[in-house]
Amino acid sequence: MTEITAQSIDETLRKQLENLEVGVDSREVGTVIQVGDGIARVDGLKGAMAGELLEFVGEGGKTVYGLAQNLEEDEVGAVLLGDVTAIKENDQVHTTGRIMEVPSGKAMLGRVVNPLGMPIDGKGPIEAEGMRPVEFKAPGVISRKPVHEPMQTGVLAIDAMVPIGRGQRELIIGDRQTGKTAIAIDAIINQKGKDMICIYVAVGQKAATVAGVVENLERFGAMDYTIVVSATAADSAPLQYIAPMAGAAIGEYFIYNGEDGKPAGPENPGRHVLVVYDDLSKQAVAYRQMSLTLRRPPGREAYPGDIFYLHSRLLERAVKMSDEYGRGSMTALPIIETQAGDVSAYIPTNVISITDGQIYLSTDQFFQGQRPAVNVGLSVSRVGGSAQTKAMKSVAGTLRLDLAAYRELQAFTQFGSDLDKATQDQLNRGAHMTELLKQGRYVPMSFMDQSIAIYAGGQGFLDDIPVGDTVRFRSEMLEYLHASKSELIDDIEKEKKFTDETKAGLNAAIEAFKTQFAPSV
Ligand code: ATP
Ligand code: MG
Repeated sequence: MTEITAQSIDETLRKQLENLEVGVDSREVGTVIQVGDGIARVDGLKGAMAGELLEFVGEGGKTVYGLAQNLEEDEVGAVLLGDVTAIKENDQVHTTGRIMEVPSGKAMLGRVVNPLGMPIDGKGPIEAEGMRPVEFKAPGVISRKPVHEPMQTGVLAIDAMVPIGRGQRELIIGDRQTGKTAIAIDAIINQKGKDMICIYVAVGQKAATVAGVVENLERFGAMDYTIVVSATAADSAPLQYIAPMAGAAIGEYFIYNGEDGKPAGPENPGRHVLVVYDDLSKQAVAYRQMSLTLRRPPGREAYPGDIFYLHSRLLERAVKMSDEYGRGSMTALPIIETQAGDVSAYIPTNVISITDGQIYLSTDQFFQGQRPAVNVGLSVSRVGGSAQTKAMKSVAGTLRLDLAAYRELQAFTQFGSDLDKATQDQLNRGAHMTELLKQGRYVPMSFMDQSIAIYAGGQGFLDDIPVGDTVRFRSEMLEYLHASKSELIDDIEKEKKFTDETKAGLNAAIEAFKTQFAPSV
């Protein structure tokens, strides 16, 4: 009996690999045995690799690309990416030895491209610096470093209570029309001047919706540092499936290369990237469709068994690189749409378990006018706290608990009539703090403004103004402070925390502002 040792396993694998390389070098030729529904069954490609790019030669020599998906004993199942109608039975198919790549580089900034990296904004061709593979093995733990720099969204409710760090994966989850896209777009707009490159990947949305997003990004000057990758609902399932991976690949160029386009390292810092996947539910549906047409066995909710692996591979690519590798980062904000608030469905539970926290948007809150509809109780950030500034941490530390206590008290007392003073005060404070977190679209707040607003609420300055005036009080107060107490704000900004001195100054300044504030009733 031969013993199975690690060495013998290595040996066998190496032999297999050697054989594989021979197969890759000599391009194989196969023939199409069946084609339909955007997939092709191919005979004669013994050496094809999973995910390999296949070259189909169609009518009149026209090349159409496909991706090898099912590797079976005597045939390969492939999905077609381009002009499906050009391919007929008996057409030739070549292996390429490569997996799909997308163009990437600085020239793509400001552009809207499809998942193959081809421009679709009518602004002419793109001279890309490099190519990146759509599937890329995420860096291991040795080349990474813990998340420690903030990725500020400019959304008060998020930056205060579910802070995100550069390199983190934070899920945005909620039913349809609850403001998921709005939060991601605000986060992109807030990156202006913060040395961040943003990638917005639109999957399975209406073309008009994507055009609207691009228009708004342009309006707020965010396209200068943003790339939009779009596979709309009208595009084929394989394109929708590839889009998020293509977005990640385009972003990776900036993490792994410095400003000069050379590999990032200790002397040549990599860049910071924010990538939004809007949304992965639609990518999952596209992948399910592909898998079913390829006759893969359906699993839970008819999704193929490897859907979890697909999403974990994608989200593992979010990283914070160590100093040795140039300190670049990729923050990922995947979006998932739930049905009737059901977070326990298959895809939501999968993605929740892969990410470092979630921002849960609730429909009830949204319709009650509490926008952004961030549900404080169900939203968490597992790593972002270490990236929060001291000033924010000191004022927002107890906010979460206070709000949770407020909601509990509110539910408990809603039928009671005579409440003692302490309970009334707590309810009043809670109502003001909840109101304080309301924020419109396209008006990101700086970290300074956020800290001061929460400080003012926490110190009780809002307690005696009408609840409905809270948001107006917040903006007029900040305006006043910037106009007449800018040295105080500079001090806090410099210290990055509230000292006894700045606190005293701030208290006096807010008091002074309050005497001139006109309540609505
Ligand atoms: P879908 O499921 O269709 O993708 P969504 O969850 O991405 O929707 P959005 O499109 O971002 O939601 O927002 C839905 C609507 O709510 C939009 O009309 C948007 O303008 C509005 N909205 C979102 N956030 C806010 C906000 N903070 N203040 C006011 N209106 C908002
Ligand atoms: Mg949306």
